[in-house]
Amino acid sequence: MTNEKIPYKCSCGGNLIKTKVEVEFFGIDFGLRDAEVCIACGSEYLDHETLKEVEMEIKKRNIFAMERKVQVARSGDSLVIKIPPEIAEFLDIHYKSLVQLFPVDRNRLEVKVTG
Ligand SMILES: [Zn+2]
Repeated sequence: MTNEKIPYKCSCGGNLIKTKVEVEFFGIDFGLRDAEVCIACGSEYLDHETLKEVEMEIKKRNIFAMERKVQVARSGDSLVIKIPPEIAEFLDIHYKSLVQLFPVDRNRLEVKVTG
């Protein structure tokens, strides 16, 4: 851990530090990678290179074959992203399933199925 200060801040306004985090996407282990971590909220921002590598690996495994574009809807104050049935089935998520939302960077959201 280097604790190197980073000139820009997390979306929550907290300071970011450079460190290494264990990276895992879709059950694929990418090991320890450089990331910027918010000391206030704990958000992790992976560097561009790591994200590229993750994307390539996932493409290779054909998970992106299920990629879909969906339109964001609204429910009260929240925004709603509809999960197409084939993706829901693949992830084994149902109505009222618990998922964890994890902003990977400024234009990427990871949804982790927790129950
Ligand atoms: Zn933060």
